Amino acid sequence: MSDKLKIAIQKSGRLSDDSKALLRECGIRLQNGKNRLLAPATNFPLEVLYLRDDDIPQYVEDGIADLGILGENVVLEKQKKVTVRQKLGFARCRLSLAIPKSENYTGPQQFQAKKIATSYPTILGDFLTAQGVEAEIHNISGSVEIAPSIGLADAVCDIVSSGSTLFSNGLKEVEVVMKSEAVLITNTSLNTEKQATLDQLLFRIDAVNRSKYSKYIILNAPREAVSAISAILPGMRSPTVVPLAEEGWCAVHSVVQEERFWEIIDQLRQQGAEGILVVPIEKMIL
Ligand code: ATP
Ligand code: ZN
Repeated sequence: MSDKLKIAIQKSGRLSDDSKALLRECGIRLQNGKNRLLAPATNFPLEVLYLRDDDIPQYVEDGIADLGILGENVVLEKQKKVTVRQKLGFARCRLSLAIPKSENYTGPQQFQAKKIATSYPTILGDFLTAQGVEAEIHNISGSVEIAPSIGLADAVCDIVSSGSTLFSNGLKEVEVVMKSEAVLITNTSLNTEKQATLDQLLFRIDAVNRSKYSKYIILNAPREAVSAISAILPGMRSPTVVPLAEEGWCAVHSVVQEERFWEIIDQLRQQGAEGILVVPIEKMIL
């Protein structure tokens, strides 16, 4: 048996581009061949299997694939024996209950004895049970959002990102059942060799994802402001401070988190920082 790690990703759909991009950013190159089910990597002990996302949990449970990338929503719905190893930060969406726009919403009790159309009967069933609500769940596989308008259901439980699909079907989102993003799942019993390759892959994924939320920042500051600025910019260990040719001035280099970016820039300017450059980071290893 081959000790190459096999990873299942979505063949085509909302997850496939980001899944392939993640492997590429991890430095993994794939042998091309568009419509094949299996693509070996040329520079890493990995093979990629292209599947429908719904099939991935079963393939990983059975060990036909060792790993898979798919939405948490599908992982939870399928209830297969797999381990969620890593959140991946893309394909963010939510599974929500929606009702016709014209109706008022008073709370989950409103779904008592109602018909709800969904492709996620397990997740919805668990949610309703937890709320003490008994409803009739209609499991349908596509175009769930049209069910109320054709009289098939009173409400729907479906994937939402902006809400525009619901809105254009005369529906409004009233209850978030779960939040989801793409995750890496693994088979529960990988051999030692595969486990080692997985650790190597996880190390790379971590470096790629960390870099996405961080920026490299370079600025000039008067020497007397350097300690105040260093306190604002902790960096990976501490900022790099280099004297400028002009007496009394320094350049400070550091790393900032994207989410605190504007707040930090304001504080730096108050301390006399100028000539601030912000550059993307490609990889980040702690
Ligand atoms: P397949 O043919 O592989 O079965 P699919 O039609 O079931 O594909 P997609 O629509 O490609 O699935 O969605 C795949 C996953 O992407 C979903 O399970 C969900 O996790 C996520 N997703 C779905 N819709 C959105 C959205 N509007 N925004 C962000 N992520 C989404
Ligand atoms: Zn699917």
